[in-house]
Amino acid sequence: MKVVLFGPPGVGKGTQAQLVAEKMAWNIMSMGDLLRAEIRAKSPLGEEAGDFLHRGVLVPDELILRVADDCIVENRGNGLIFDGFPRNLNQAIALAQALARQNEMVDRALGFSLPTEELVQRLTNRLYCSKCGELYNLHSRPPTQAGSCDACGGKLARRDDDREQVIRERLKVYDAETKPLIEYYTSLSVYHTVDASGTKEKVFERVMASLDVNHA
Ligand code: AMP
Repeated sequence: MKVVLFGPPGVGKGTQAQLVAEKMAWNIMSMGDLLRAEIRAKSPLGEEAGDFLHRGVLVPDELILRVADDCIVENRGNGLIFDGFPRNLNQAIALAQALARQNEMVDRALGFSLPTEELVQRLTNRLYCSKCGELYNLHSRPPTQAGSCDACGGKLARRDDDREQVIRERLKVYDAETKPLIEYYTSLSVYHTVDASGTKEKVFERVMASLDVNHA
């Protein structure tokens, strides 16, 4: 099964992607994580993408599709969750074509929703562990010891693009470029909205219900 997760930044789709992947033994393609790994590795692709992430705008499709294509081919026949890809109509069409080449399609597209001020609140308070990736929120889920990860003791950091001005830009980009995917996937009869409010466990129940897969 191929599942697309999309929604504004801070809505928790990365967390849900991990929970679903664990439950279903599927793989995840997180475009943001792949890009940040390229930037850390200082690869040519990372050098090109870095400034776009820093400003909170979309990386050009040509680079994104290069990253996505390999992963799609590698996961032929596997369950795969697309987290943060596609992010505009052009990418959605390219994804449909890449999957069609291997006789597959997007089976479900889940669009997460949450009020804007809650998104901003979540993102401005978000910290991640630079060693294991665990997420914290200074407000709702603070670490036991300030600055270090409860799980592995790693140093906690703030994402470069989790600054209020950049967050507002990312939200604008979402509305202008990504939101039209709701209409696109509705027209393909694979779209479901997921209310992203409440605990991650509660949201996970809603996600599994929209996937409508047998997961007992
Ligand atoms: P995320 O980790 O999903 O919040 O993505 C962080 C940043 O990576 C975004 O603000 C964009 O700059 C870039 N990015 C991630 N996925 C895509 C995509 N599918 N298309 C273009 N840019 C992307």
